[in-house]
Amino acid sequence: MSASPLFETFARAPLAFERGEGSWLIDTEGRRYLDFAGGIAVNSLGHSHPALVAALSEQAGKLWHVSNLYEIPDQHRLAERLVENSFADKVFFTNSGAEALECAIKTARRYQYVKGHPERFRTITFEGAFHGRTLATIAAGGQEKYLEGFGPKVEGFDQVPFADVEAVEKLIGPETAAILIEPIQGEGGIREVPAHVLRRLRELCDEHGLLLIYDEVQCGVGRTGKLFAYERSGVAPDLMAIAKGIGGGFPMGACLATEEAASGMKAGVHGTTFGGNPLAMAVGNAVLDVVLADGFLDEVSQKALLLRQRLAEIADEFPDVVEDIRGIGLMLGVRCRIPNTRLMAALREAKLLSVTAGDNVVRLLPPLTVTEPEIREALDRFRTAAASLSAPAAAAAQ
Ligand SMILES: *Cc1c(COP(=O)(O)O)cnc(C)c1O
Repeated sequence: MSASPLFETFARAPLAFERGEGSWLIDTEGRRYLDFAGGIAVNSLGHSHPALVAALSEQAGKLWHVSNLYEIPDQHRLAERLVENSFADKVFFTNSGAEALECAIKTARRYQYVKGHPERFRTITFEGAFHGRTLATIAAGGQEKYLEGFGPKVEGFDQVPFADVEAVEKLIGPETAAILIEPIQGEGGIREVPAHVLRRLRELCDEHGLLLIYDEVQCGVGRTGKLFAYERSGVAPDLMAIAKGIGGGFPMGACLATEEAASGMKAGVHGTTFGGNPLAMAVGNAVLDVVLADGFLDEVSQKALLLRQRLAEIADEFPDVVEDIRGIGLMLGVRCRIPNTRLMAALREAKLLSVTAGDNVVRLLPPLTVTEPEIREALDRFRTAAASLSAPAAAAAQ
């Protein structure tokens, strides 16, 4: 008999946390961990940020939920702010990243439909992508390990190798509706798509009447030192999914669109019960208050530079453990020469939390509010962990 009443879907670490303070998590035994996993890039402002606690508590005493049968003024306000600070004109709020992607994919199909191209429903995606765990988003991600045993793959997704524009060009056909890409792959191993590739995808979309969809569920909302990762390339999409960081730990997501791309989404064609509820909107607005404050994102970039440079030095010191450091801003990947799970375990032993990713990478995703002393502490712990795994160091210890 199984000991747990929970689905066995997660390989959980044997740790349970009682509370969090900024960049720190405190377990039920009172031990303090530096949290560079950030709930997988979700805790953008760390734990128990006073502004988020205040926003949520205040809203909790007023109104939790009314449904989208009625006006929700804070939805307007959050949407307006996302629009002011992005390529978008329109926003649809969801509860998760996968739902934001579902909305983006449906919006692209509806766009083609109302433009007189009902035959265009296919979306081109890239190897190593991760877009969520719904039936459509596992088809979009195209990873065999997530598709296996779940029946026929949802129709309408075609995959090409990572960042391969020539393959995209060859694949575009009369049924193609959209191209979907993460500007920086997260689960795939912190792989940045070069700006020239995004530029070429934009051109191909414009030439062929396709919509360009970005998945910024992981890389969006300040993680790269820009509000949105695509700003680095200057290449705007037609649709974009965000989630994780915008809620700072409250479950929420959003699909952003240009007016044109959203033109098929009329009353009744799509919906959600919980999406955009007052609790989520209060938190989302409070996250933006902090992230959009003067100088906040510049500070993220500065701190990120420190973390990255020092990590690269440690990587040079232990070439038999670390192959290279990659990533942008506070979305960093450590490519390992040993199995990434071993490095993650050693980091946990040193009380520094991280997350694994594809391509034998360990991700470091600290809160955007991480301080310089905390970064130095994390680097010390990282060095200790790397040293414990390095063969020369281990031999010298004998
Ligand atoms: C996490 C993630 C998703 C899925 O988000 P959920 O909230 O788990 O549904 C989609 N795309 C990317 C890039 C992600 O990192």
